[in-house]
Amino acid sequence: MPGASKTRSAQVAIVGAGFAGLSAALDLTARGVDCVVLEARNRVGGRVLNHDIGDGNIVEVGGQWVGPTQLAILGMASRMGVATYPTHIEGENVIEYRGSVSRYTGTIPRINPAVLLQVEWARRRMNAMASQVPLDAPWSAQKARKWDSVTFGQWMNLNAPSKGARMLIRLAIRSVFGTEPEDVSLLHVLFYLHSAGGFDALVDTRGGAQDSRFDGGSQLVAIRMAEELGERVVLDAPVRRIEDTGAGIRIDADGFALEAERAIVAVSPTLATRIDWEPALPARRDQMTQRMPQGAIVKCMAIYDEPFWRSEGLSGSGLSDGGSVNAIFDNTPPDGSPGVLLGFLDGRAARRWGQASPGERQAEVVRVFGRLFGSRALSPIDYVERNWAAERWSRGCYSGAFGPSGWTDFGPALRQPVGRIHWAGTETATVWNGYIDGAITSGERAAAEVAGAT
Ligand SMILES: Cc1cc2nc3c(=O)[nH]c(=O)nc-3n(C[C@H](O)[C@H](O)[C@H](O)COP(=O)(O)OP(=O)(O)OC[C@H]3O[C@@H](n4cnc5c(N)ncnc54)[C@H](O)[C@@H]3O)c2cc1C
Repeated sequence: MPGASKTRSAQVAIVGAGFAGLSAALDLTARGVDCVVLEARNRVGGRVLNHDIGDGNIVEVGGQWVGPTQLAILGMASRMGVATYPTHIEGENVIEYRGSVSRYTGTIPRINPAVLLQVEWARRRMNAMASQVPLDAPWSAQKARKWDSVTFGQWMNLNAPSKGARMLIRLAIRSVFGTEPEDVSLLHVLFYLHSAGGFDALVDTRGGAQDSRFDGGSQLVAIRMAEELGERVVLDAPVRRIEDTGAGIRIDADGFALEAERAIVAVSPTLATRIDWEPALPARRDQMTQRMPQGAIVKCMAIYDEPFWRSEGLSGSGLSDGGSVNAIFDNTPPDGSPGVLLGFLDGRAARRWGQASPGERQAEVVRVFGRLFGSRALSPIDYVERNWAAERWSRGCYSGAFGPSGWTDFGPALRQPVGRIHWAGTETATVWNGYIDGAITSGERAAAEVAGAT
């Protein structure tokens, strides 16, 4: 702001100390480029956040899992000395379907075979279509206009005739996007599938995106990245205004001004558009940000003395069509104590239950756990949750998703630099878009752009 108490200068200013901003900063530093990262919160990691549940145990209230093809985050974790361990999946899973609870093994529950056949057909069809979407330019797919003219929900209604198949696909879309099939363009879903390597890679635990966890919690990786950057990272510095002066960039944050040759804005389009831009951003860039809303997720965990479900032959994984908690996982720390059940309220359930009081929400989540895992689940010793739509510096998660016409009319504006401004953030990634992995590669891509331009 005018009158800011401190003014600093750097070759490159980076807005946001999530994985994208931190990766950009590490990359630029390694190239000998002087940079400063301005972070609104009093911590680093953005949509990734550890929560201490006592006795040195950590659970993550934001992003937590890593899959075997997510090489950027695996590489970064290993560089930062953070080990991974497999997500607990041993035992039978449970599903609540039309009011009754049953056990199953694997990813797909054992329900009506006709329903499963339809889901399998839809899965294959989605994968085949997804492979035709170019990752760096989804708008250039041969059928881009057709696929971007409808929502995924419209496609699902035509291609999954039974109610049961539609319910299972809806659960998958909610789990993966934090939104409803009616909210998101078919082309966006296909792009996202291709970006991850297919439907199975997104929904599977073993071998998929939920394969492993980080010892010490996922935020530890970001914390160590920031430690390496030292004083280059400035916390409690929300960026309010960015001006391209013609000679360079001037950034006004609370109590802090920064002058730089170029800037990397490593926040989601939803948040980038809340900054006051001078001059105003080009119309297509601004309109693009109006078409990529964040999903809605409340991540909820009930904590028990021990993971009692394991001794009953259950994995702790579950699905429910009951309308609130959608997918459930065993989130117990690696040494097996205390027991932690993790449930996601996502999409419409997050919108609805996000407005309830914390007590009502907790009661609902624990009720669902009780229906799926028995009466012991009704009495947790602790409960932890985070409503990401209510977070000022996130405004939702897991990431932004285009509605119809988003990619085809506005897609090129997602990464295209505006003068001296470059864009990073998981929403701009071509591989593992929406994930920590995509955030890292987006930061490195933006750093390479800047390095090439300076
Ligand atoms: C509940 C939940 C579960 C998830 N699960 C997984 C998972 O299991 N695996 C996975 O890979 N991914 C998961 N994700 C997604 C993953 O966390 C994100 O894709 C990734 O962290 C995004 O990183 P980013 O750097 O692009 O953005 P962010 O993490 O959002 O970072 C942006 C940073 O910019 C800051 N900021 C915003 N506006 C300003 C401003 N004006 N001035 C200064 N700073 C600003 C923010 O505070 C933030 O620190 C999950 C996310 C959530 C919330």
